[in-house]
Amino acid sequence: MIDIASPLRLRIDSAALVSNWRWLAAQSGQACGAAIKADGYGLGARGVMRHLAAAGCRDFFVATWAEAAALMPLAEGVSLSVLHGVGKSDMIAARTLPARPVLNSLEQVARWREAGEGKPCDVMIDTGMNRLGLRPEEALGGALDGLVIETLLSHLASADEDSPQNASQLAAFRAVREQIPARRYSLANSAGICLGADYGFDLTRPGLALYGGIPREEARGAIRQVAFPEARVLQLREVPAGETVGYGATWTAQRTSRVAVANMGYADGYLRCHAGSGGATWRARDLPLVGRVSMDLVAFDASDADGLGEGDWLALDYDLAQVADRSGLSQYELLTGLGTRYDRYWI
Ligand SMILES: *Cc1c(COP(=O)(O)O)cnc(C)c1O
Repeated sequence: MIDIASPLRLRIDSAALVSNWRWLAAQSGQACGAAIKADGYGLGARGVMRHLAAAGCRDFFVATWAEAAALMPLAEGVSLSVLHGVGKSDMIAARTLPARPVLNSLEQVARWREAGEGKPCDVMIDTGMNRLGLRPEEALGGALDGLVIETLLSHLASADEDSPQNASQLAAFRAVREQIPARRYSLANSAGICLGADYGFDLTRPGLALYGGIPREEARGAIRQVAFPEARVLQLREVPAGETVGYGATWTAQRTSRVAVANMGYADGYLRCHAGSGGATWRARDLPLVGRVSMDLVAFDASDADGLGEGDWLALDYDLAQVADRSGLSQYELLTGLGTRYDRYWI
């Protein structure tokens, strides 16, 4: 197969990723793992795992068995958990892959007892989110007796806010911890780590903040941008004053303008809500987005970018917290929406 370069690329800063993990690990107190579901939040789970494992991260979390299978073979000493548990159709994967299921329901507990061959598992306790996990009263009735539980988990619903739900989930998790033996206990995601060492227990599971997201104000200034989308300029055109650009003619040139049309659109996760606030830079010059975002194309006002030519790469404005504020998308959506057409490369 010939190797054809994409006119769209995602530069991924491995030093920033590792620096974010180290900061989160320091805040966590104990061990710090990594959530790498959804292909490492869009950056590429394999690459994320490789760089974090080299930095000392030992505990990784994916959502599904297909995601786990895609990470084989695992490096020596690395542990992988599958957050969404074991359905009937997952059992072959669960028995053959070197990964642990996170059991979420009594049905899954029964399934693992019957067919898990006594292998260790993780268990999720729902302390108030009502998403996945056993209710404490289900877990405490002896249902888990005899299971080899590596990690007992729960997940915070409102850690990104100053909500009384945080303390109430913490108290509920502590109560469960008193009664259910496991080798380790784990509660905090990125935002939970920022709530303080009380939330750290034995192991934390950050995702967003590893990849440059700011889950709470405490992380601002410490967390570095990791993902830098870049798009190639396909064409530069002069748009006379009074003419419009793009579908629906939503932008009118107030002066004769130089417009750069770049190879990126909503099919690449660059959604239409960036219109009006999006932008890019080239050699420290700002290029505001103009008109609507198309499926595969987007236009920028390059009037102030002297020297920019066809084939040059524009760096998208992609500071996650800032762009989330401006676009109305969440930082999670900004990362996981990045499509498959980017050449992902690590620096
Ligand atoms: C996704 C996920 C995480 C990571 O959450 P972030 O908010 O991205 O840090 C941690 N734990 C569980 C159970 C998750 O599903």
